[in-house]
Amino acid sequence: MAKITKLDDIVSLCKRRGFIFQSSEIYGGLASCYDYGPLGVELKRNVREAWWKDVVRMRDDVVGLDCSILMHPLVWKASGHADKFADLIAECKKCNTRTRVDHLKDHAEEHAEHVDIDTAMAAEHDLSGKVCPSCGKVGNFTEPMPFKLMFETQMGANVDDSMTLYLRPETAQGIFANFRNVLDTTRVKIPFGIAQIGKSFRNEVTTKAFIFRTREFEQAEIEFFCEPGTDEDWYEDWKEKRFNWYVDLGIKKENLRFRDHDPDELAHYAKACVDVEYKFPFGSGDWQELEGIANRTDYDLRQHQRGMRTLNDWYEKKGDLTAITLKDEAEDNHKGPLSYFDEQEKKRYIPYVIEPSAGIDRSVLAFLVDAYDEEEVKGATRNLLRFHPALAPTKVAVFPLVKKNCLQNIAHNISNDLKKYFTCFYDQKGAVGRRYRRQDEAGTPYCVTVDGQTLEDKTVTVRDRDSMEQIRVSTDQLTAHLREKLEL
Ligand code: ATP
Repeated sequence: MAKITKLDDIVSLCKRRGFIFQSSEIYGGLASCYDYGPLGVELKRNVREAWWKDVVRMRDDVVGLDCSILMHPLVWKASGHADKFADLIAECKKCNTRTRVDHLKDHAEEHAEHVDIDTAMAAEHDLSGKVCPSCGKVGNFTEPMPFKLMFETQMGANVDDSMTLYLRPETAQGIFANFRNVLDTTRVKIPFGIAQIGKSFRNEVTTKAFIFRTREFEQAEIEFFCEPGTDEDWYEDWKEKRFNWYVDLGIKKENLRFRDHDPDELAHYAKACVDVEYKFPFGSGDWQELEGIANRTDYDLRQHQRGMRTLNDWYEKKGDLTAITLKDEAEDNHKGPLSYFDEQEKKRYIPYVIEPSAGIDRSVLAFLVDAYDEEEVKGATRNLLRFHPALAPTKVAVFPLVKKNCLQNIAHNISNDLKKYFTCFYDQKGAVGRRYRRQDEAGTPYCVTVDGQTLEDKTVTVRDRDSMEQIRVSTDQLTAHLREKLEL
């Protein structure tokens, strides 16, 4: 089985087949920004949909949410992002390229975790032997300095009332900010989760690995609220569920693993954190994070209670986040506005949170890489994407064998019928063998061909992408047959 071995192969595969293009390519491209083409957009929608189905639709204890990207600036003060969401960088004095200090240390490893900025600042950094990845000059760096990762923007037309806002660097905080709203308006009871998919933005210092690390990306996050004391069981439960989600959608088990965070890697409030890693065929380490699952304790809700109590100061300081300090926790914090009252047990507490946080774009990349295959068929190479049917951008392609009106009409009608149930592609151009190969390359699980025999006995050929096996199916059974095969 042939494998993709270089990032360049993935990039050209994505471009060639219309999955992913460089953003603003006609203007020379915009670094680290990508556009999803006709096949890519369907694949990405299917990944989102598969996640949503699994964690929201199929469960009784998770509800969905869609928050705005722009939020009150105090959200980011309370979450810690305004003060601490930064990487430690050094600038090459020769070419002015800024590089993450931890990347220099590891000779430009592209997958290192963001480190806690206070810890990074406090550590000793000897850059004398380090090489600038851009110009190659050795040991010619500025002192390390923090580089903020949140994008700033201005809201409001008038100078007086305009304020600085941030593009959210994660979707999670919108969930915490709506915890009370969801509790008050739905019938959820702890344990329950809130799930959200949406864009996040980080002004990443290093972004070389295609859609693996970009400055604008999509996250799929769940905050699962539970009673303190039950958190460890829920953490294990979510670990297993999230790992199996990738496997159930076709990722080979041997390409997935867990990596527990070392105690010194953990944020001070986190009780445990594990990454689901995929063996990407690039980077120095291969294994890289697909998703993080963390036990965040009651930290976030407590922080937002402090943030809410700081609102007056924020007005007084005219919105200057650097001039305000979060109010200390109140003594009765466990009874605060973001606490939970357990009616049955008659007790009140701040829930603990388990957070499975996945990247949609990273998942797309992993599904693409894992599905890619090459095989020899009758002396020629057949390229194909063995997507799980739920993820395949096109589920069925319909062809008339030859360009004859009577066959074209039947094929068109079949295609229009199937479109009610799944994405279907009609193609009448070129030799049928070549049409099959195009669909193999796009990852289409089934092709339906209308031929002379269809006129006689109302059957069509259904060809399986993976086995290339062809069977005859009667046209009145076709939809049911394909729905069963595709599990749709
Ligand atoms: P990394 O260490 O790779 O920067 P992280 O630990 O900072 O990731 P989290 O904050 O845990 O990432 O975000 C959860 C998920 O969001 C990641 O597992 C990843 O799938 C996705 N993600 C985070 N940053 C990016 C990015 N810059 N580009 C694409 N996806 C990202």
